[in-house]
Amino acid sequence: MNIILFGPPGAGKGTQATKVVKKFNLHKVSTGDLLREEIKNNTDLGNKIKSIMDRGSLISDNIINDLITKVISNKKFYNRLIFDGYPRNLKQGKNLDSQIKKYKQKISCVLSLNVDKESIIKRISGRQICVNCGLIFNEYYYPASSKNHSCDPKFLNKRSDDNKKTIINRFETYLNKTLPILDFYKEQNLFHQINGMAKIDQIFDEIYGIIASLET
Ligand SMILES: [Zn+2]
Repeated sequence: MNIILFGPPGAGKGTQATKVVKKFNLHKVSTGDLLREEIKNNTDLGNKIKSIMDRGSLISDNIINDLITKVISNKKFYNRLIFDGYPRNLKQGKNLDSQIKKYKQKISCVLSLNVDKESIIKRISGRQICVNCGLIFNEYYYPASSKNHSCDPKFLNKRSDDNKKTIINRFETYLNKTLPILDFYKEQNLFHQINGMAKIDQIFDEIYGIIASLET
């Protein structure tokens, strides 16, 4: 089975994808990982990607689509992929659809983690890292206290307000670019909405239920 996981940045997609991978023995496909791997392997494409990134430019859909095709055509991962953060726009969605068909596979389900904008902002902007011990807290959802943290509070590091704008921008880009793809999957009855505001384990239980029902 191949699965696509949608959700805005900060919705916890990566965490859930990792759990699904372990439970169902799937292979996670994240474009960030693919790009980093290509650079690390020093391929021609990797060098090209590196110079584009060094310039601060965006990697084109064509390059991303080529990397995705490589994974889909790899027999080792046949019909056991979970896409995390791909497709990001309609062009990528159409590419995925045609490559999946070309390599005689199918998308079994599309899961979308729903999280509202305010929660995303709190999740990301409330994040605090202790520079002394490395523990991660959230001032809204999991504040540091004497019960869970023994360092001086002065070690807790927070992101600056600038990042709030970036978070909102990324969230809105997500809504604008990905909603059209979701419609595409809704028409095929592959689409499941997941309450992304629930606790990590509850979210996973819901996802588990959906995937397990596909297997039978
Ligand atoms: Zn600490």
